[in-house]
Amino acid sequence: MTHWKEILQKSIDTPAELARHFDFDCSALEAANASFPMRINPYYLGLIQSVKDPLWKQAVPDPTELLDSVCIPDPLDEENLSPVPNLVHKYPDRVLFLVASECAMYCRFCTRKRKVASSEMIITDKMIDDGIGYISKNPTVREVLISGGDPLILSDARLDSILGRLRGIPTVEVIRIGTRMPCTLPMRITKELVAVLKKHHPLYINTHFNHPRELTTEATAACSLLADSGIPLGCQTVLLKGVNDTPETLQKLFLGLLRMRVKPYYLFQGDLTRGTNHFRTHSSIGIQIMRQLIGTISGMAIPTLALDAPGGKGKIPLTPDYIISRGHQLIFHNYCGQTCSYPENGDPV
Ligand SMILES: *Cc1c(COP(=O)(O)O)cnc(C)c1O
Ligand code: SF4
Repeated sequence: MTHWKEILQKSIDTPAELARHFDFDCSALEAANASFPMRINPYYLGLIQSVKDPLWKQAVPDPTELLDSVCIPDPLDEENLSPVPNLVHKYPDRVLFLVASECAMYCRFCTRKRKVASSEMIITDKMIDDGIGYISKNPTVREVLISGGDPLILSDARLDSILGRLRGIPTVEVIRIGTRMPCTLPMRITKELVAVLKKHHPLYINTHFNHPRELTTEATAACSLLADSGIPLGCQTVLLKGVNDTPETLQKLFLGLLRMRVKPYYLFQGDLTRGTNHFRTHSSIGIQIMRQLIGTISGMAIPTLALDAPGGKGKIPLTPDYIISRGHQLIFHNYCGQTCSYPENGDPV
């Protein structure tokens, strides 16, 4: 099997190269590519079937990225919530630690589009040291979320070192890695990598699939390797207009993930990240989709639809409203729209 780094080196990063594979006007994409870089590796390129299909839209620059006058560079206020560079401390008991600036593909909807793959994001050894120092001095931090960029773009040795140093902090209970590699370059999940990861349990991985066509044989093999080494797998999907914003598509995705031993964890309402406005859906669309899925398919396949509140205010679940009235009886709809009631016991708190 070709080494994942060799596959990655063959990535295309200009619209002109893409025009060798598909028939479209590549000059229209040059400006968007200059503002927000593209990278499409040969594996993901092979999944794209036609111009503007759901996988194309995730990977290929679009002129509308530059027409976004609504969104802002850092909607989650991550820079202001960083006590040291590239470590975001927003919630009391967990931090987000950005350890890599590159990815196997640059997703057009990326929430960190402002910095991923740009000169705004250079991760130095000192930043890693400072992040680890911060975590060791803050014993309320029970969980460290390692993200980027994509942490699995780092070498096995570098990952082993970072994970080992975090494990050396007695107050760190759980390590969670956020990575799109099982989806965008599943060959990265090797036996050697898995041997490194399993040294640092309890370790969770949240991966990121957005469309059922991403659930390939290769992706399934990658998830099997991870799951077989005892790593619980979750998925953070982003709700994207024109990509996965129908109940049929998401049902297929979530049930497919479950078969791959990946538990759908979050379905994110689009962030207000500059250059991604064309992907945002009205909040009612996601809520309506959740209403159609909850109860219809296995609860194991149902993620929480969440809105990451602007200004770094945290993730808010968006849940269909089932309650009709409250009193001595709680009156509500069930999943198929029937009216039901439940007699209360005592007074409300
Ligand atoms: C999303 C996020 C987390 C993790 O939130 P969970 O609800 O535990 O998945 C932690 N820190 C930051 C800054 C985040 O954006
Ligand atoms: S893999 Fe994740 S961090 Fe990298 S570009 Fe895609 S969404 Fe952004």
